[in-house]
Formats: sequence, structure tokens, C-alpha cells
Amino acid sequence: MDIIVLKPSATEDDIRHIVKKLESKGLKANISKGTERTIIGVIGDTSRVSEDEENAIKAIEAVESVTRIIKPYKLASREFKKDDTVINVRGIPIGGKKVQVVAGPCAVENRTIVLNIAEKVKAAGASFFRGGAFKPRTSPYSFQGLGVEGLKILAEARELTGLPIVTELMDPRDIDVVAEYADVIQIGARNMQNFRLLLEVGQTDKPVLLKRGLSATIKEWLMAAEYIMSKGNQNVILCERGIRTFETATRNTLDLSAVPLLKELTHLPVVVDPSHGVGKWNLVIPMSRAAVAAGADGLLIEVHTNPEEALSDGEQSIKPDVFKQLMEEIRPIAEALGRTV
Ligand code: PEP
Ligand code: MN
Repeated sequence: MDIIVLKPSATEDDIRHIVKKLESKGLKANISKGTERTIIGVIGDTSRVSEDEENAIKAIEAVESVTRIIKPYKLASREFKKDDTVINVRGIPIGGKKVQVVAGPCAVENRTIVLNIAEKVKAAGASFFRGGAFKPRTSPYSFQGLGVEGLKILAEARELTGLPIVTELMDPRDIDVVAEYADVIQIGARNMQNFRLLLEVGQTDKPVLLKRGLSATIKEWLMAAEYIMSKGNQNVILCERGIRTFETATRNTLDLSAVPLLKELTHLPVVVDPSHGVGKWNLVIPMSRAAVAAGADGLLIEVHTNPEEALSDGEQSIKPDVFKQLMEEIRPIAEALGRTV
């Protein structure tokens, strides 16, 4: 038993009664009120609910149906929520008709560079600004990010352009300060299964951009989303950023089939990051076109004014004029699908 659909006639008392019953079995209820029906998602180890107990719930008059989801994720599943989730970030919807583009440098390097890039991506039509203040680098000797100083620069970029900020959180100890400055908290690929971190962001009300792990299956990725949602934060955006395969000609293999598949499995918005997906700047435009064609709700693009001198991911960063071209090239594809950019 995982999802309890109530009859349209169900009252608040009925809901309370069912919630109490679930709680007495050590389970929790997530209540989703639709225009016609209320759906109760049962959270916890529902495999221990016996058939008799399930039948007892079915017998409650206000209950229309009880469904067991075989899938291990519930709150993230399409079965639980039929309509697409649209997440509102400072008035900008992600998951709706408009394809939202998040652009900016890999890392916040310094104030001058960042503000300059922010102005340029804004002018080209980006709707979010990104940049890492805490960077997950493979080498401890590489640039690790400016930390809180970097967050302050991002806030300045937001003030300058009006673009909401997406930035990565790596450590639960930084959650308060990152949440103070960020509009969307990014959980990086390397932390997709950092469960303590997921539970922490699940307790905030900030939208979370959850990147797919380096070698994560779709199921593991959705389970990671479930960790966040199980703590109450339903605002999760999934970001495909390429997976490890035997291929070494590109940095990763961008799994675009994940996009239409996720659209079937989950109601959460899906964005694609072709920059990390391919690792080569000259492949970013064609893969962006393909991502929009596959049905992505947004793109995440690394842009730098001087990729040669970038402190991280220069080889996959596009210059502002290339970014402008990207925006122009994805527009007719989005429009052909009844969307806007
Ligand atoms: C990034 O967005 O700069 C980043 C580090 O991404 P990922 O976690 O996908 O490698
Ligand atoms: Mn990067």
C-alpha cells in the first residue's frame, strides 16, 4: 500500500482519521490536495503493511482506491502526481511551457569576471545565472572556489541582472549560508548519493537542482530525489549531466534518452547540462538543440568570457557570442514543440 486515493466526498475528518491510522503503524502521510481528489502518499516501510491491514484501509468509506507502487520511489513518481510539477523561482516557472536556460561560469572566479558574464548571459536571454562558490574538484590542489565570498558575488550578479542564482552546496555545514544567497541549491553529481546532504536540503524550502551521479542509474537518481522529497521539500529539478561509459572521446556520455524516460516516470522538471555531458565547447550547441528536442524543461550551460584562462572547465565553456547563438538555435526547436525559450 503506497497511495491512497480519497473520494471527492472525503472530509478533513476522514483525512485525519486515515493519517492517524497510518501513524499508528509507524508510517507517515504526505497529503496532496488536487482540485477534485485528495491523494495520500504513504511514507515509510510499507512492505510491512499486511494484506489484512491494507484491506482495512480499503474498507474506509472515504477511500476510493489503494495502490501499491512497485517502484521504490513514491513522491517522485507519476503515479503519485499526474500533472507536471512546475517550480516557481522568484516568479520564474521551471517545468512549464518555457524552456529555462541557466547559464554562467563553472566557478565564481572574481567579481569583475562574474558580473561581466552575468550581464552578457542576461542580454542573450538566459533566465538563471549559475556559478560555483564551493567547487568539487578532482584534485585538492585545484581551485576550490571562493566560498562565502563567491556567494556574495553571486548575490551582486542577481542584483545587477535580476537573474535568480543556482549554486552548489557540498557540505551540510554550509547549508545556512548557501540557502541565504542561492535561489536554487545545486547538488552536484559527486554528491547525488550523499544521503545526509539530501536529507538536509529536504528540510529547506529552497528548490534543489539534483544532478545525476557519475554512474547513477535512473532509479538511483529518482531515489535520491525521493530522499529530498521525503523530508518535505517537493521542489526538486533533475539535471542530466552525462554518465560514465567506456567512451573517452567525450568527457561523459550525455544520456538524452533519460529525458523522455523521466517524463514518463516522474512529474519533476528535467533539465540537461550538455557542458559537463560532453566536456567540449564545440559540441554544446548541437547537444543543446537535441536536449530541447528530447523534451528538456531547461538547459544548464557553462559560459566564460575567456575560456582559455578559466580556473575550471574552460574546455567546455562557451563564449557569450556562442551562447547567444545557442539561444537563437534552440528557439525554433522549442517552438516546433509548442514551447517557448
Ligand atoms: C558544475 O555544475 O560545475 C559541476 C561541478 O557539475 P557536476 O556535479 O555535474 O560535475
Ligand atoms: Mn563545471
